[in-house]
Amino acid sequence: THHFDTKTYKNNVTLRTGLFIGGDWVDPVDGGGLIDVVDPATGQTITSIAGGGPKDVDSAVKAARKAYKTSWGLKVPGAQRGRILSKFADLLEKHNDELAALESLNVGKPFLASKMFEVSNTVNIVRYFAGWADKIHGKTIETNDKKMAYTRHEPWGVVGAIVPWNFPLSMAICKLAPALAAGNTVILKPSEFTPLTALFVADLLNEAGVPPGVVNVVNGYGYSVGSAMSSHPNIDKISFTGSTLTGRRILKAAADSNLKAVTLELGGKSPTIVFDDADVEQAVKWAAQGIFFNSGQVCIAGSRIFVQEGIYEKFLEGFTAYADQLAKATGHPFEETTHHGPLVSKTQYERVLGYIDSGKSEGAKIHTGGEWVGGDGYFVKPTVFVDVKPDMKIMREEIFGPVCCLVKFKTEEEVTEWANDTTYGLAANVLTENSSRAIRMANALEAGSIYVNCALDGGINVPFGGYKQSGIGREMGEAALDTYTQVKAVHINT
Ligand code: NAD
Repeated sequence: THHFDTKTYKNNVTLRTGLFIGGDWVDPVDGGGLIDVVDPATGQTITSIAGGGPKDVDSAVKAARKAYKTSWGLKVPGAQRGRILSKFADLLEKHNDELAALESLNVGKPFLASKMFEVSNTVNIVRYFAGWADKIHGKTIETNDKKMAYTRHEPWGVVGAIVPWNFPLSMAICKLAPALAAGNTVILKPSEFTPLTALFVADLLNEAGVPPGVVNVVNGYGYSVGSAMSSHPNIDKISFTGSTLTGRRILKAAADSNLKAVTLELGGKSPTIVFDDADVEQAVKWAAQGIFFNSGQVCIAGSRIFVQEGIYEKFLEGFTAYADQLAKATGHPFEETTHHGPLVSKTQYERVLGYIDSGKSEGAKIHTGGEWVGGDGYFVKPTVFVDVKPDMKIMREEIFGPVCCLVKFKTEEEVTEWANDTTYGLAANVLTENSSRAIRMANALEAGSIYVNCALDGGINVPFGGYKQSGIGREMGEAALDTYTQVKAVHINT
Protein backbone atom coordinates (compact mmCIF):
# COMPACT_ATOMS: atom_id res chain seq x y z
CA THR A 1 0.00 0.00 0.00
CA HIS A 2 0.98 3.61 -0.47
CA HIS A 3 -0.17 6.95 0.87
CA PHE A 4 -0.87 10.17 -0.89
CA ASP A 5 -1.71 13.65 0.22
CA THR A 6 -3.06 16.27 -2.14
CA LYS A 7 -2.69 19.92 -1.40
CA THR A 8 -6.36 20.50 -0.82
CA TYR A 9 -7.51 17.10 0.30
CA LYS A 10 -6.18 16.49 3.78
CA ASN A 11 -7.02 12.90 4.61
CA ASN A 12 -4.58 10.26 3.65
CA VAL A 13 -6.10 7.31 1.88
CA THR A 14 -4.53 3.90 1.74
CA LEU A 15 -3.97 2.92 -1.87
CA ARG A 16 -4.05 -0.73 -2.79
CA THR A 17 -1.76 -1.69 -5.63
CA GLY A 18 -1.97 -5.50 -5.81
CA LEU A 19 -4.49 -8.00 -7.10
CA PHE A 20 -7.49 -9.04 -5.02
CA ILE A 21 -8.05 -12.76 -5.53
CA GLY A 22 -9.94 -15.18 -3.30
CA GLY A 23 -10.34 -12.52 -0.61
CA ASP A 24 -6.59 -11.82 -0.33
CA TRP A 25 -4.26 -9.16 -1.66
CA VAL A 26 -1.69 -10.95 -3.76
CA ASP A 27 1.16 -10.17 -6.12
CA PRO A 28 0.81 -11.20 -9.74
CA VAL A 29 2.40 -14.52 -10.64
CA ASP A 30 2.30 -13.74 -14.33
CA GLY A 31 3.23 -10.12 -14.01
CA GLY A 32 2.63 -7.62 -16.73
CA GLY A 33 4.97 -5.35 -14.73
CA LEU A 34 4.19 -2.18 -12.84
CA ILE A 35 1.68 0.22 -14.34
CA ASP A 36 2.00 3.90 -13.46
CA VAL A 37 -1.18 5.60 -12.35
CA VAL A 38 -1.10 9.27 -13.32
CA ASP A 39 -2.87 12.41 -12.07
CA PRO A 40 -4.09 13.92 -15.36
CA ALA A 41 -4.30 17.42 -13.90
CA THR A 42 -0.55 17.53 -13.31
CA GLY A 43 0.94 14.67 -15.31
CA GLN A 44 2.53 13.38 -12.06
CA THR A 45 2.59 9.70 -11.14
CA ILE A 46 0.36 8.97 -8.13
CA THR A 47 1.47 5.39 -7.60
CA SER A 48 2.23 2.23 -9.56
CA ILE A 49 0.03 -0.82 -9.53
CA ALA A 50 0.95 -4.43 -10.21
CA GLY A 51 -0.39 -5.57 -13.55
CA GLY A 52 -1.46 -9.20 -13.77
CA GLY A 53 -1.50 -11.63 -16.67
CA PRO A 54 -3.35 -14.72 -17.94
CA LYS A 55 -2.23 -16.95 -15.03
CA ASP A 56 -3.62 -14.46 -12.55
CA VAL A 57 -6.90 -14.46 -14.45
CA ASP A 58 -6.85 -18.22 -14.13
CA SER A 59 -6.40 -18.07 -10.33
CA ALA A 60 -9.21 -15.54 -10.11
CA VAL A 61 -11.49 -17.79 -12.17
CA LYS A 62 -10.73 -20.73 -9.85
CA ALA A 63 -11.47 -18.61 -6.77
CA ALA A 64 -14.66 -17.25 -8.32
CA ARG A 65 -15.87 -20.72 -9.36
CA LYS A 66 -15.21 -22.13 -5.90
CA ALA A 67 -17.03 -19.24 -4.25
CA TYR A 68 -19.93 -19.63 -6.66
CA LYS A 69 -20.33 -23.27 -5.71
CA THR A 70 -19.79 -22.95 -1.97
CA SER A 71 -20.66 -19.52 -0.64
CA TRP A 72 -22.75 -17.56 -3.15
CA GLY A 73 -24.90 -18.39 -6.15
CA LEU A 74 -27.66 -20.84 -5.39
CA LYS A 75 -26.17 -21.55 -1.95
CA VAL A 76 -27.14 -18.19 -0.51
CA PRO A 77 -30.75 -16.95 -0.40
CA GLY A 78 -31.43 -13.74 -2.28
CA ALA A 79 -32.43 -11.94 0.91
CA GLN A 80 -28.99 -12.59 2.38
CA ARG A 81 -27.22 -11.40 -0.75
CA GLY A 82 -29.41 -8.28 -0.57
CA ARG A 83 -28.46 -7.66 3.06
CA ILE A 84 -24.76 -7.93 2.26
CA LEU A 85 -25.16 -5.58 -0.70
CA SER A 86 -27.01 -3.07 1.50
CA LYS A 87 -24.13 -3.14 3.95
CA PHE A 88 -21.76 -2.58 1.04
CA ALA A 89 -23.84 0.45 -0.03
CA ASP A 90 -23.60 1.87 3.51
CA LEU A 91 -19.82 1.48 3.42
CA LEU A 92 -19.55 3.19 0.05
CA GLU A 93 -21.59 6.04 1.50
CA LYS A 94 -19.42 6.20 4.59
CA HIS A 95 -16.30 6.45 2.44
CA ASN A 96 -17.85 8.93 0.02
CA ASP A 97 -15.09 11.51 0.48
CA GLU A 98 -12.18 9.14 0.00
CA LEU A 99 -13.76 7.54 -3.03
CA ALA A 100 -14.54 10.93 -4.57
CA ALA A 101 -11.00 12.11 -3.86
CA LEU A 102 -9.48 9.04 -5.47
CA GLU A 103 -11.72 9.42 -8.49
CA SER A 104 -10.87 13.10 -8.89
CA LEU A 105 -7.19 12.45 -8.44
CA ASN A 106 -7.09 9.60 -10.92
CA VAL A 107 -9.61 10.79 -13.54
CA GLY A 108 -9.29 14.57 -13.13
CA LYS A 109 -12.98 15.22 -12.65
CA PRO A 110 -14.02 18.09 -10.36
CA PHE A 111 -14.28 16.85 -6.77
CA LEU A 112 -17.91 17.90 -6.35
CA ALA A 113 -18.88 16.09 -9.56
CA SER A 114 -17.12 12.97 -8.28
CA LYS A 115 -19.04 13.17 -5.05
CA MET A 116 -22.44 13.83 -6.53
CA PHE A 117 -22.46 12.01 -9.84
CA GLU A 118 -20.01 9.25 -9.21
CA VAL A 119 -20.15 8.17 -5.58
CA SER A 120 -23.76 9.05 -4.65
CA ASN A 121 -24.97 7.52 -7.86
CA THR A 122 -22.98 4.40 -7.09
CA VAL A 123 -24.49 4.07 -3.63
CA ASN A 124 -27.95 4.33 -5.17
CA ILE A 125 -27.14 1.68 -7.76
CA VAL A 126 -26.08 -0.79 -5.07
CA ARG A 127 -29.19 -0.07 -2.97
CA TYR A 128 -31.43 -0.48 -5.99
CA PHE A 129 -30.02 -3.90 -6.88
CA ALA A 130 -29.79 -4.99 -3.24
CA GLY A 131 -33.57 -4.57 -3.21
CA TRP A 132 -33.91 -6.85 -6.23
CA ALA A 133 -31.85 -9.71 -4.80
CA ASP A 134 -34.86 -11.50 -3.24
CA LYS A 135 -37.28 -10.55 -6.00
CA ILE A 136 -35.81 -12.50 -8.88
CA HIS A 137 -38.25 -15.24 -9.77
CA GLY A 138 -39.76 -17.13 -12.66
CA LYS A 139 -43.24 -18.00 -13.87
CA THR A 140 -45.54 -20.97 -13.80
CA ILE A 141 -46.80 -21.92 -17.26
CA GLU A 142 -49.53 -24.50 -17.88
CA THR A 143 -48.83 -26.42 -21.07
CA ASN A 144 -51.86 -28.74 -21.12
CA ASP A 145 -54.23 -30.25 -18.58
CA LYS A 146 -51.59 -32.73 -17.41
CA LYS A 147 -48.42 -30.76 -17.81
CA MET A 148 -47.02 -27.55 -16.48
CA ALA A 149 -43.65 -25.87 -16.46
CA TYR A 150 -42.01 -23.36 -14.19
CA THR A 151 -39.06 -21.13 -14.92
CA ARG A 152 -36.10 -20.32 -12.73
CA HIS A 153 -33.84 -17.30 -13.31
CA GLU A 154 -30.47 -18.73 -12.38
CA PRO A 155 -27.13 -16.93 -12.28
CA TRP A 156 -24.63 -17.58 -15.07
CA GLY A 157 -21.89 -18.50 -12.63
CA VAL A 158 -18.64 -16.59 -13.10
CA VAL A 159 -18.97 -13.17 -14.73
CA GLY A 160 -16.07 -11.13 -16.08
CA ALA A 161 -16.57 -7.36 -15.87
CA ILE A 162 -14.27 -5.21 -18.01
CA VAL A 163 -14.67 -1.47 -17.51
CA PRO A 164 -13.35 1.81 -18.96
CA TRP A 165 -11.79 4.90 -17.39
CA ASN A 166 -14.42 7.60 -17.80
CA PHE A 167 -16.58 6.64 -14.79
CA PRO A 168 -14.36 4.00 -13.19
CA LEU A 169 -16.36 3.56 -9.99
CA SER A 170 -19.92 3.71 -11.28
CA MET A 171 -19.14 1.58 -14.35
CA ALA A 172 -17.64 -1.11 -12.14
CA ILE A 173 -20.53 -0.98 -9.69
CA CYS A 174 -23.27 -0.97 -12.30
CA LYS A 175 -21.92 -4.38 -13.32
CA LEU A 176 -21.03 -5.72 -9.86
CA ALA A 177 -24.30 -4.85 -8.16
CA PRO A 178 -26.77 -6.63 -10.48
CA ALA A 179 -24.34 -9.51 -11.09
CA LEU A 180 -24.00 -10.13 -7.35
CA ALA A 181 -27.69 -9.57 -6.63
CA ALA A 182 -28.49 -12.26 -9.19
CA GLY A 183 -26.02 -14.65 -7.52
CA ASN A 184 -23.00 -14.54 -9.84
CA THR A 185 -19.41 -14.26 -8.74
CA VAL A 186 -17.27 -11.68 -10.50
CA ILE A 187 -13.80 -10.97 -11.83
CA LEU A 188 -13.44 -7.24 -12.30
CA LYS A 189 -10.81 -5.71 -14.54
CA PRO A 190 -10.57 -1.95 -14.07
CA SER A 191 -9.03 0.21 -16.77
CA GLU A 192 -5.24 0.27 -16.47
CA PHE A 193 -5.51 4.08 -16.39
CA THR A 194 -7.95 4.29 -13.47
CA PRO A 195 -7.73 1.34 -11.05
CA LEU A 196 -7.71 3.22 -7.74
CA THR A 197 -11.39 3.22 -6.74
CA ALA A 198 -11.97 -0.40 -7.80
CA LEU A 199 -9.07 -1.46 -5.58
CA PHE A 200 -10.43 0.61 -2.69
CA VAL A 201 -13.84 -0.98 -3.14
CA ALA A 202 -12.42 -4.51 -2.80
CA ASP A 203 -11.70 -3.85 0.90
CA LEU A 204 -15.22 -2.52 1.39
CA LEU A 205 -16.70 -5.66 -0.14
CA ASN A 206 -14.68 -7.69 2.30
CA GLU A 207 -15.86 -5.57 5.20
CA ALA A 208 -19.49 -5.86 4.05
CA GLY A 209 -19.26 -9.63 4.35
CA VAL A 210 -19.00 -10.59 0.71
CA PRO A 211 -17.35 -14.03 0.98
CA PRO A 212 -13.81 -14.52 -0.35
CA GLY A 213 -13.67 -15.21 -4.09
CA VAL A 214 -17.10 -13.72 -4.80
CA VAL A 215 -15.45 -10.59 -6.18
CA ASN A 216 -11.90 -10.61 -7.52
CA VAL A 217 -10.10 -7.59 -8.92
CA VAL A 218 -7.38 -8.22 -11.49
CA ASN A 219 -5.44 -5.16 -12.69
CA GLY A 220 -3.73 -5.16 -15.99
CA TYR A 221 -3.74 -4.25 -19.63
CA GLY A 222 -6.59 -5.03 -21.97
CA TYR A 223 -4.47 -7.04 -24.40
CA SER A 224 -3.29 -9.25 -21.55
CA VAL A 225 -5.78 -9.54 -18.66
CA GLY A 226 -8.82 -8.38 -20.65
CA SER A 227 -8.14 -10.70 -23.52
CA ALA A 228 -7.39 -13.65 -21.19
CA MET A 229 -10.79 -13.07 -19.60
CA SER A 230 -12.64 -12.86 -22.92
CA SER A 231 -11.16 -16.12 -24.14
CA HIS A 232 -11.24 -18.00 -20.81
CA PRO A 233 -13.16 -21.27 -21.15
CA ASN A 234 -14.44 -21.14 -17.59
CA ILE A 235 -15.90 -17.62 -17.50
CA ASP A 236 -19.61 -17.83 -18.31
CA LYS A 237 -20.32 -14.26 -19.22
CA ILE A 238 -18.48 -11.05 -20.02
CA SER A 239 -20.01 -7.69 -19.36
CA PHE A 240 -17.99 -5.00 -21.10
CA THR A 241 -18.09 -1.23 -21.32
CA GLY A 242 -15.63 0.50 -23.60
CA SER A 243 -14.90 1.18 -27.23
CA THR A 244 -16.61 -0.50 -30.16
CA LEU A 245 -13.25 -1.78 -31.42
CA THR A 246 -12.56 -3.61 -28.15
CA GLY A 247 -16.17 -4.83 -27.98
CA ARG A 248 -15.72 -6.47 -31.36
CA ARG A 249 -12.53 -8.21 -30.14
CA ILE A 250 -14.24 -9.48 -27.02
CA LEU A 251 -17.16 -10.87 -28.99
CA LYS A 252 -14.75 -12.72 -31.30
CA ALA A 253 -12.77 -14.13 -28.36
CA ALA A 254 -16.00 -15.24 -26.71
CA ALA A 255 -17.16 -16.92 -29.90
CA ASP A 256 -13.85 -18.72 -30.38
CA SER A 257 -13.58 -19.97 -26.79
CA ASN A 258 -16.70 -21.20 -25.00
CA LEU A 259 -19.44 -19.08 -26.61
CA LYS A 260 -19.80 -17.18 -23.36
CA ALA A 261 -22.63 -14.69 -23.11
CA VAL A 262 -21.57 -11.11 -23.82
CA THR A 263 -23.10 -7.77 -22.95
CA LEU A 264 -21.53 -4.76 -24.65
CA GLU A 265 -21.93 -1.08 -23.81
CA LEU A 266 -19.95 0.73 -26.48
CA GLY A 267 -19.27 4.08 -28.03
CA GLY A 268 -21.54 6.71 -29.48
CA LYS A 269 -21.85 9.80 -31.65
CA SER A 270 -25.10 11.01 -30.23
CA PRO A 271 -27.12 13.84 -31.78
CA THR A 272 -28.63 16.76 -29.89
CA ILE A 273 -31.47 18.25 -31.92
CA VAL A 274 -32.70 21.75 -31.12
CA PHE A 275 -35.94 22.83 -32.80
CA ASP A 276 -37.05 26.43 -33.38
CA ASP A 277 -39.76 26.02 -30.77
CA ALA A 278 -37.33 25.04 -27.97
CA ASP A 279 -36.74 27.22 -24.93
CA VAL A 280 -33.34 28.61 -26.02
CA GLU A 281 -31.91 29.01 -22.55
CA GLN A 282 -32.81 25.45 -21.60
CA ALA A 283 -31.61 24.14 -24.95
CA VAL A 284 -28.23 25.81 -24.49
CA LYS A 285 -27.91 24.40 -20.99
CA TRP A 286 -28.79 20.82 -21.96
CA ALA A 287 -26.81 20.81 -25.16
CA ALA A 288 -23.76 22.18 -23.35
CA GLN A 289 -23.97 19.81 -20.41
CA GLY A 290 -24.67 17.02 -22.86
CA ILE A 291 -21.29 17.45 -24.53
CA PHE A 292 -19.06 19.12 -21.94
CA PHE A 293 -19.87 17.15 -18.77
CA ASN A 294 -16.86 15.08 -17.64
CA SER A 295 -14.84 16.93 -20.32
CA GLY A 296 -16.84 15.19 -23.00
CA GLN A 297 -15.67 11.75 -21.88
CA VAL A 298 -19.18 10.36 -21.76
CA CYS A 299 -20.44 7.57 -23.98
CA ILE A 300 -23.76 9.36 -24.57
CA ALA A 301 -22.13 12.76 -25.16
CA GLY A 302 -24.21 14.82 -27.61
CA SER A 303 -21.31 15.55 -29.94
CA ARG A 304 -23.34 16.41 -33.06
CA ILE A 305 -25.59 19.37 -32.34
CA PHE A 306 -28.24 20.09 -34.99
CA VAL A 307 -29.98 23.46 -34.63
CA GLN A 308 -32.99 24.61 -36.66
CA GLU A 309 -32.32 27.69 -38.76
CA GLY A 310 -34.77 30.06 -37.02
CA ILE A 311 -33.05 29.66 -33.66
CA TYR A 312 -29.50 29.00 -34.88
CA GLU A 313 -27.91 32.43 -34.31
CA LYS A 314 -29.45 32.88 -30.90
CA PHE A 315 -28.45 29.35 -29.86
CA LEU A 316 -24.90 29.77 -31.16
CA GLU A 317 -24.49 32.95 -29.14
CA GLY A 318 -25.71 31.35 -25.91
CA PHE A 319 -23.82 28.12 -26.48
CA THR A 320 -20.55 29.92 -27.19
CA ALA A 321 -20.98 32.00 -24.05
CA TYR A 322 -21.53 28.80 -22.04
CA ALA A 323 -18.43 27.15 -23.55
CA ASP A 324 -16.28 30.20 -22.88
CA GLN A 325 -17.53 30.48 -19.32
CA LEU A 326 -16.69 26.83 -18.76
CA ALA A 327 -13.24 27.35 -20.23
CA LYS A 328 -12.66 29.98 -17.53
CA ALA A 329 -13.66 27.40 -14.89
CA THR A 330 -10.94 25.00 -16.06
CA GLY A 331 -8.57 23.87 -13.37
CA HIS A 332 -7.36 21.34 -10.87
CA PRO A 333 -10.20 19.06 -9.73
CA PHE A 334 -9.72 19.93 -6.07
CA GLU A 335 -10.22 23.68 -6.58
CA GLU A 336 -13.76 24.74 -5.70
CA THR A 337 -14.00 26.98 -8.76
CA THR A 338 -13.26 24.12 -11.18
CA HIS A 339 -16.10 22.87 -13.37
CA HIS A 340 -13.99 21.66 -16.24
CA GLY A 341 -11.16 19.19 -15.64
CA PRO A 342 -8.50 17.60 -17.82
CA LEU A 343 -8.84 14.58 -20.08
CA VAL A 344 -7.96 11.32 -18.40
CA SER A 345 -4.56 10.64 -19.94
CA LYS A 346 -1.87 11.83 -22.28
CA THR A 347 -3.06 9.29 -24.85
CA GLN A 348 -6.60 10.63 -24.73
CA TYR A 349 -5.34 14.24 -24.82
CA GLU A 350 -3.32 13.53 -27.95
CA ARG A 351 -6.22 11.69 -29.52
CA VAL A 352 -8.58 14.62 -28.96
CA LEU A 353 -6.04 17.17 -30.25
CA GLY A 354 -5.64 14.91 -33.29
CA TYR A 355 -9.37 15.23 -33.97
CA ILE A 356 -9.21 19.01 -33.57
CA ASP A 357 -6.41 19.09 -36.17
CA SER A 358 -8.33 16.78 -38.46
CA GLY A 359 -11.42 19.01 -38.25
CA LYS A 360 -9.33 22.04 -39.18
CA SER A 361 -7.56 20.30 -42.02
CA GLU A 362 -10.84 18.99 -43.45
CA GLY A 363 -12.12 22.56 -43.61
CA ALA A 364 -14.32 22.92 -40.53
CA LYS A 365 -13.98 26.15 -38.55
CA ILE A 366 -13.29 26.41 -34.83
CA HIS A 367 -15.90 28.84 -33.54
CA THR A 368 -14.49 28.78 -30.03
CA GLY A 369 -12.04 26.70 -27.99
CA GLY A 370 -9.26 24.50 -29.29
CA GLU A 371 -6.15 23.57 -27.45
CA TRP A 372 -5.45 24.62 -23.86
CA VAL A 373 -2.40 26.77 -23.35
CA GLY A 374 -0.49 26.68 -20.10
CA GLY A 375 -0.26 24.09 -17.32
CA ASP A 376 1.09 20.55 -17.32
CA GLY A 377 -2.20 18.68 -17.23
CA TYR A 378 -4.13 17.23 -20.14
CA PHE A 379 -6.61 20.10 -20.54
CA VAL A 380 -8.60 20.84 -23.68
CA LYS A 381 -10.94 23.84 -23.89
CA PRO A 382 -14.62 23.33 -24.64
CA THR A 383 -14.45 23.43 -28.43
CA VAL A 384 -17.16 24.19 -30.97
CA PHE A 385 -16.77 23.46 -34.68
CA VAL A 386 -18.97 25.09 -37.32
CA ASP A 387 -18.96 24.77 -41.14
CA VAL A 388 -18.94 21.03 -40.75
CA LYS A 389 -19.73 18.53 -43.54
CA PRO A 390 -21.37 15.13 -42.89
CA ASP A 391 -18.43 13.08 -44.14
CA MET A 392 -15.77 14.77 -42.00
CA LYS A 393 -14.08 12.55 -39.39
CA ILE A 394 -15.18 14.88 -36.58
CA MET A 395 -18.81 14.23 -37.60
CA ARG A 396 -18.46 10.47 -37.91
CA GLU A 397 -16.02 9.25 -35.25
CA GLU A 398 -16.33 9.31 -31.49
CA ILE A 399 -13.93 11.98 -30.16
CA PHE A 400 -14.54 11.45 -26.44
CA GLY A 401 -13.47 14.96 -25.51
CA PRO A 402 -15.09 18.40 -25.07
CA VAL A 403 -15.45 18.88 -28.81
CA CYS A 404 -18.69 19.22 -30.77
CA CYS A 405 -19.96 20.03 -34.24
CA LEU A 406 -22.78 22.52 -34.77
CA VAL A 407 -24.94 22.03 -37.86
CA LYS A 408 -27.89 24.13 -39.12
CA PHE A 409 -30.99 22.29 -40.38
CA LYS A 410 -34.31 23.21 -41.98
CA THR A 411 -36.84 20.40 -41.55
CA GLU A 412 -37.73 17.60 -39.18
CA GLU A 413 -37.37 15.02 -41.98
CA GLU A 414 -33.92 16.27 -42.89
CA VAL A 415 -32.58 16.28 -39.34
CA THR A 416 -33.98 12.82 -38.61
CA GLU A 417 -32.06 11.46 -41.55
CA TRP A 418 -28.85 13.26 -40.57
CA ALA A 419 -29.13 12.25 -36.92
CA ASN A 420 -29.53 8.58 -37.88
CA ASP A 421 -26.68 8.72 -40.38
CA THR A 422 -24.18 7.02 -38.04
CA THR A 423 -23.03 3.50 -37.21
CA TYR A 424 -23.72 4.28 -33.54
CA GLY A 425 -27.05 4.36 -31.72
CA LEU A 426 -26.54 5.03 -28.05
CA ALA A 427 -28.55 8.16 -27.29
CA ALA A 428 -30.24 11.24 -28.74
CA ASN A 429 -31.36 14.50 -27.16
CA VAL A 430 -34.39 16.38 -28.49
CA LEU A 431 -35.17 19.94 -27.45
CA THR A 432 -38.67 21.11 -28.36
CA GLU A 433 -41.78 22.47 -26.67
CA ASN A 434 -44.00 20.61 -29.14
CA SER A 435 -44.95 17.32 -27.52
CA SER A 436 -46.22 15.66 -30.71
CA ARG A 437 -42.94 16.41 -32.40
CA ALA A 438 -41.03 15.11 -29.35
CA ILE A 439 -42.85 11.79 -29.57
CA ARG A 440 -42.45 11.58 -33.37
CA MET A 441 -38.72 12.15 -32.97
CA ALA A 442 -38.42 9.68 -30.10
CA ASN A 443 -39.99 7.05 -32.36
CA ALA A 444 -37.88 7.90 -35.42
CA LEU A 445 -34.44 8.16 -33.82
CA GLU A 446 -32.34 5.00 -33.85
CA ALA A 447 -30.92 5.03 -30.33
CA GLY A 448 -31.29 3.15 -27.06
CA SER A 449 -31.98 6.26 -24.93
CA ILE A 450 -33.87 9.37 -26.02
CA TYR A 451 -33.75 12.43 -23.81
CA VAL A 452 -36.51 14.99 -24.41
CA ASN A 453 -35.73 18.43 -22.99
CA CYS A 454 -32.91 16.95 -20.95
CA ALA A 455 -29.62 15.11 -21.43
CA LEU A 456 -27.39 12.59 -19.63
CA ASP A 457 -30.06 11.93 -17.11
CA GLY A 458 -30.29 8.13 -17.02
CA GLY A 459 -32.23 6.91 -14.01
CA ILE A 460 -30.76 3.83 -12.35
CA ASN A 461 -34.14 2.09 -12.66
CA VAL A 462 -34.31 2.66 -16.42
CA PRO A 463 -32.78 0.27 -18.97
CA PHE A 464 -29.69 1.61 -20.72
CA GLY A 465 -27.92 0.35 -23.83
CA GLY A 466 -27.18 0.86 -27.47
CA TYR A 467 -28.77 0.34 -30.87
CA LYS A 468 -26.59 -0.54 -33.87
CA GLN A 469 -22.85 -0.68 -33.08
CA SER A 470 -23.29 0.99 -29.70
CA GLY A 471 -23.88 -2.28 -27.95
CA ILE A 472 -25.67 -5.51 -27.21
CA GLY A 473 -27.92 -5.95 -24.19
CA ARG A 474 -29.07 -3.56 -21.49
CA GLU A 475 -27.77 -2.46 -18.12
CA MET A 476 -29.55 -0.75 -15.25
CA GLY A 477 -33.16 -1.21 -14.19
CA GLU A 478 -34.92 -4.54 -14.11
CA ALA A 479 -33.47 -5.28 -17.56
CA ALA A 480 -30.00 -5.67 -15.99
CA LEU A 481 -31.18 -8.68 -14.03
CA ASP A 482 -32.09 -10.43 -17.27
CA THR A 483 -28.55 -10.01 -18.51
CA TYR A 484 -27.09 -11.54 -15.35
CA THR A 485 -29.37 -14.59 -15.27
CA GLN A 486 -30.26 -17.44 -17.57
CA VAL A 487 -33.69 -19.02 -17.67
CA LYS A 488 -34.27 -22.67 -16.87
CA ALA A 489 -37.64 -24.23 -17.73
CA VAL A 490 -38.69 -27.20 -15.61
CA HIS A 491 -41.43 -29.36 -17.20
CA ILE A 492 -43.64 -31.45 -14.94
CA ASN A 493 -46.06 -34.15 -15.93
CA THR A 494 -48.72 -34.62 -13.27
P1 NAD B 1 -11.28 0.61 -24.32
O1 NAD B 1 -12.15 -0.24 -25.15
O2 NAD B 1 -9.95 0.97 -24.84
O3 NAD B 1 -11.02 -0.06 -22.91
C1 NAD B 1 -12.05 -0.49 -22.07
C2 NAD B 1 -11.57 -1.64 -21.22
O4 NAD B 1 -11.29 -2.74 -22.06
C3 NAD B 1 -10.29 -1.36 -20.45
O5 NAD B 1 -10.36 -1.97 -19.20
C4 NAD B 1 -9.24 -2.03 -21.32
O6 NAD B 1 -8.11 -2.43 -20.60
C5 NAD B 1 -10.00 -3.24 -21.82
N1 NAD B 1 -9.47 -3.82 -23.06
C6 NAD B 1 -8.72 -3.22 -24.02
N2 NAD B 1 -8.41 -4.11 -25.00
C7 NAD B 1 -8.99 -5.28 -24.66
C8 NAD B 1 -9.04 -6.57 -25.27
N3 NAD B 1 -8.45 -6.82 -26.43
N4 NAD B 1 -9.74 -7.53 -24.65
C9 NAD B 1 -10.38 -7.30 -23.49
N5 NAD B 1 -10.35 -6.11 -22.86
C10 NAD B 1 -9.66 -5.10 -23.43
O7 NAD B 1 -12.15 1.89 -23.98
P2 NAD B 1 -11.71 3.13 -23.08
O8 NAD B 1 -10.80 3.96 -23.91
O9 NAD B 1 -11.28 2.68 -21.74
O10 NAD B 1 -13.11 3.85 -22.87
C11 NAD B 1 -13.64 4.72 -23.79
C12 NAD B 1 -14.72 4.05 -24.61
O11 NAD B 1 -15.71 3.47 -23.76
C13 NAD B 1 -15.46 4.99 -25.49
O12 NAD B 1 -15.60 4.42 -26.78
C14 NAD B 1 -16.81 5.13 -24.83
O13 NAD B 1 -17.84 5.48 -25.69
C15 NAD B 1 -17.00 3.80 -24.23
N6 NAD B 1 -17.97 3.87 -23.12
C16 NAD B 1 -19.21 3.33 -23.31
C17 NAD B 1 -20.16 3.40 -22.31
C18 NAD B 1 -21.52 2.80 -22.50
O14 NAD B 1 -22.19 2.56 -21.50
N7 NAD B 1 -21.97 2.53 -23.69
C19 NAD B 1 -19.84 4.01 -21.11
C20 NAD B 1 -18.58 4.55 -20.94
C21 NAD B 1 -17.64 4.47 -21.97
